[in-house]
Amino acid sequence: MASSSSSTSTSNSNGSKSKYEAKLRYNVDRFAKILSDEPQDSSLVQWLQESYGVDKTNQLAQLSSLSPSSVQEQKTLLRDFLEWFRTQFPYYRDTCNHCGAKGCQFRGNHPPTLDEQTPSPNTTTTTATIIIDTTEVSYCPHCQQLTRFPRYLSAMEIVKRQRGRCSEYSLLLYRILVGVLGLPARWIVDWANHVWAEVWIHEKWVHLDPCEASVDQPLLYQGWGKKQTYIVAFQQRGPDPSSSSSVTNGNKKNDTAHCPSSVVDVTKDYTSDSWETIQERRAQDGVTQEEIAAALDRANADLQQMTPSDIIATYSTSRTN
Ligand SMILES: [Zn+2]
Repeated sequence: MASSSSSTSTSNSNGSKSKYEAKLRYNVDRFAKILSDEPQDSSLVQWLQESYGVDKTNQLAQLSSLSPSSVQEQKTLLRDFLEWFRTQFPYYRDTCNHCGAKGCQFRGNHPPTLDEQTPSPNTTTTTATIIIDTTEVSYCPHCQQLTRFPRYLSAMEIVKRQRGRCSEYSLLLYRILVGVLGLPARWIVDWANHVWAEVWIHEKWVHLDPCEASVDQPLLYQGWGKKQTYIVAFQQRGPDPSSSSSVTNGNKKNDTAHCPSSVVDVTKDYTSDSWETIQERRAQDGVTQEEIAAALDRANADLQQMTPSDIIATYSTSRTN
């Protein structure tokens, strides 16, 4: 699937392969892997109910059925949840596995070992699926040993290992929103090395950052001094959030066919800079608007061709534990 789609022409007017499209394709591929983790959602439901509580989980699942006047209440529920989430899943800061020192030095990406591809013990499912991107290796200057950091794309593995950065925690949050709570959600990637999620509430996509426990603060990153240039939203086909009747009570997948998968440029949602300023930055980078539009069209076409079962078949490695 990924190999056939990547054979689509990605040449720009200079005849060279588009840097933008290469990065977009990489993220479409990652998103497809996240979607392929869907069979693990039932384990995720069980875990969330046990660890966050059945009542609180149900409250979250019913967020979109609250009236528009209770938007503050909704944000408070989400913020409480993200605060809890952050205590469960602290940001991994290159701590040495051997001596516990911080500040290990990155030494490269390596193929995962067989052990790293094997699900953790105490797997609640009989057939565990584990999806892993790569393994980062870093060197500890204190004890001179190497630490391996497997970058999982499998939500239950992230739950069990509790080690990750924005990549792991944004995809876990995305799977919780979509797969456990039944809420329309998007996975958001900033080319400037950050990832988060959004949830659809009352005709609006609401920014959720699991590493910052931040709700509806889209200008947060601008405050960090980032110059927003390429930010893309990835959404799975599912209930159409613009149809108010499609998600009424938080029941999972009660209406799945309305909204096609989509890949959308959302850069201007995350900056107060003008559209002209964003385009100037892109032009300085040698990336044209036409090139971006064409790359997004191709990514959308590819993602929409994939059914969930295609994606699962393409990416999942089922293992009997
Ligand atoms: Zn060490």
